[in-house]
Amino acid sequence: MFSKKIAIDLGTANSLVYEVGRGIVLNEPTVVAVTVDGGKVVAVGDSAKEMLGRTPADIKASCPMRDGVIADYAVTEALLKYFIDEVCGSSRLVRPEVMVSVPAGVTSVESRAVLDATVAAGARYAYLIPEPLAAAIGAGIPISAPFGNMIVNLGGGATEVAVISLGGIVVQGSVRVAGNRIDGAIAEHLRREHSITVGDQTAEAVKIELGSAIPLEEEIRKEVKGRDSVSGLPKVVEIGSHEVTAAIGGPLSEIVSTIRVVLERTPPELASDVIDRGMVLSGGTSLLRNLSKLLTQKTGVPVHTADDPLLCVIQGCGEIIKNLDVFKKNLIARR
Ligand code: ADP
Ligand code: MG
Repeated sequence: MFSKKIAIDLGTANSLVYEVGRGIVLNEPTVVAVTVDGGKVVAVGDSAKEMLGRTPADIKASCPMRDGVIADYAVTEALLKYFIDEVCGSSRLVRPEVMVSVPAGVTSVESRAVLDATVAAGARYAYLIPEPLAAAIGAGIPISAPFGNMIVNLGGGATEVAVISLGGIVVQGSVRVAGNRIDGAIAEHLRREHSITVGDQTAEAVKIELGSAIPLEEEIRKEVKGRDSVSGLPKVVEIGSHEVTAAIGGPLSEIVSTIRVVLERTPPELASDVIDRGMVLSGGTSLLRNLSKLLTQKTGVPVHTADDPLLCVIQGCGEIIKNLDVFKKNLIARR
């Protein structure tokens, strides 16, 4: 009997599962709701995300990944087990082979934790693949060509930058700054300038509706609901896109410097390829308005955003797990 082959993009914000022969079978926020005593999983994904900040005392909803790595081991294992059960059924006879993508900059302790959680969740073999490589393949970049190709994957917890040539990562850099830190900067601005405290989901909604990396030509405005930081009572304020652009400047400039450092460390021949071919953006944060314009201005390199940026990593993982022999040398570890 053949065992199933599954790839999992365990993101800080969203997790996706790919099954060889079926394609993407699951796409859910990386949120788990568990009972406080016993840690029994009561909800995963969208239904758990709705509970964030709204749970009664006996249930805890949490995001087990932070900055691209496992922050809560037990909950991550429960999540992986849930994914594997969804694909294989809980009474599986043959345990699956599971590949999980991890940020290129993870430490060996962090990658060991992911491997262990995957095996504990029921995998027969667990493999890890560096996320930038998967993102590049998923974005349609010809990674085996003898040219330098730059990929910038901007997710929820981290931004990863890599220059890839001849099928391998030549230079890489990463910073634990991405969508969540942008949301945080917006929440901080609202607290400081408007004395209103908002939850993470509200800050994210403001970013998606009003956010732009450079000021929009025509300002747009939106009502924001939260709690008055002084009186504690419910409060509504109206804010505009220009102030959001100013508020998110800090995290964006950290992302820009990370990209510039990688460009500076790129060998000249490959750097010249990158200037000709441009860099490709993937990940949900690449959808921030005018981000590609800002990055072109600040680096002098043309920028393209991948089609379906939220799916690049899992689509690349799918290609890799279908062709494990070709990509063997890129697997971080296996057991
Ligand atoms: P991860 O791989 O870390 O789970 P994703 O690639 O799934 O991250 O991207 C999630 C991030 O993308 C979140 O921070 C989310 O707020 C952000 N995002 C999604 N859509 C948009 C958008 N239209 N504009 C700006 N940010 C967005
Ligand atoms: Mg991701």
